[in-house]
Amino acid sequence: MNNFQYKRVSSPIAAITELAKDPAAKLVAGGTNLIDLMKYGVMSPDKLVDVNHLNFNEIVKQDGSLHIGATVRNAVASANADVLKYQPLLSQAMLSGASPQLRNKATMGGNLLQRTRCGYFYDISAPCNKRQPGSGCGAMGGYNRMHAIFGASSSCIAVNPSDMNVALTALDAVILVTGPKGDRKIPISDFHRLPGTHPELDTTLDRKEIITGIVIPDNAFAANTTYIKVRDRASYAFALISVAVAMELEGTTIKDIRLAMGGVAHKPWRLKEAEQMLKGKQASVENFKMAAELAMKGARAYEHNAFKLKLAPNTMIQALKTASGIKA
Ligand code: SF4
Repeated sequence: MNNFQYKRVSSPIAAITELAKDPAAKLVAGGTNLIDLMKYGVMSPDKLVDVNHLNFNEIVKQDGSLHIGATVRNAVASANADVLKYQPLLSQAMLSGASPQLRNKATMGGNLLQRTRCGYFYDISAPCNKRQPGSGCGAMGGYNRMHAIFGASSSCIAVNPSDMNVALTALDAVILVTGPKGDRKIPISDFHRLPGTHPELDTTLDRKEIITGIVIPDNAFAANTTYIKVRDRASYAFALISVAVAMELEGTTIKDIRLAMGGVAHKPWRLKEAEQMLKGKQASVENFKMAAELAMKGARAYEHNAFKLKLAPNTMIQALKTASGIKA
C-alpha cells in the first residue's frame, strides 16, 4: 500500500475543498471497499478525507419520504424502525449483503459507491479497462461466470455488486449530493452508469461532489416486498442473480409494482417493461412467467455465465410469487 495523507473533516465544505485542491484525494467513511482496493494496489489515493464526523447520521421520516443520511451505517439502517415499517425491502436487501461486521462499518454513501468485484479488476497484473483505461478487458475472453448479461460494452462486462442499490432502484430513491456548484438531487436510475467506452466511471457523481443522503419517496409497497438473492453460499457472497420486488395489491390485482435485478449489469437493472405488463393484471404464475420473459429481452451471455439466462427469470418468478403470497 502506498503512503497517503489522512485528513479528518467536520463540514461538507471542508470535504469538498479537500477534493477540489487534490485530484488524487478520496473520501473514506467505513472504508470496507476502499481500504481493500488500496491494499491490492488497485486504487492509490494520496490523501484520504475522513467524512465519518459529518452530520449525516440520521434517519428521518419527512413529508412521507424517508431521509437516510450518507454516514448512517448499513447495520443501523437495516434495523431502523421506520425502515422496517415503511421500506422493508431496503432492510431485506441490506441484510443479505456482506457480513454483520462489515454492515457495522459500511455506510449508506459508501455502499452506493461500492466498486465491482470482477477478479480482473482486483488483479493488478491483468488487463482491466476499469482500473487502467485502454488496457483491455481480462474478463471478456477470460473467466466471466459472475459477469453481466445486460447493458455491457466491448470495454467492460462487470456488474455492480451492491444489494442495497438494487432495492433503492426498485424504490425510486433519490441521491442527495453537494459540491462546488451547490446541492443537487440525482434519481438513482441516473446515478450508476453503464460502462460504454468509459468503464472507469461507475457513477455520474462529480469528483468534487459528496453524497449527503438518500431519499426514498413514500409508497404503498410495505406489505408486499421481497428481495431474493441467489449466490454460491448462504452468506458473505455476492449475488449471481438478485431480484427486488415491491408490489401494491388490491385483492389479487397488481395496482402498482417495481422490479429490479442485481448481478446482471454495470448498474442495478430496472425492469420497466415487465412492470408495465404486470400493472393492472392478476397476480398469477402465468402473468409472472410472461413478465419474466419480457424482462429477459436483450440479455446476452458470455462463455461462463449462460446459466444466468435461466436463473434470472426463475428467480424473478419466485420473487413475484413470494411478494404476492402466491403458493403454486
Ligand atoms: Fe475490468 Fe470490467 Fe473487464 Fe472486469 S469486466 S476486467 S472490471 S474492464
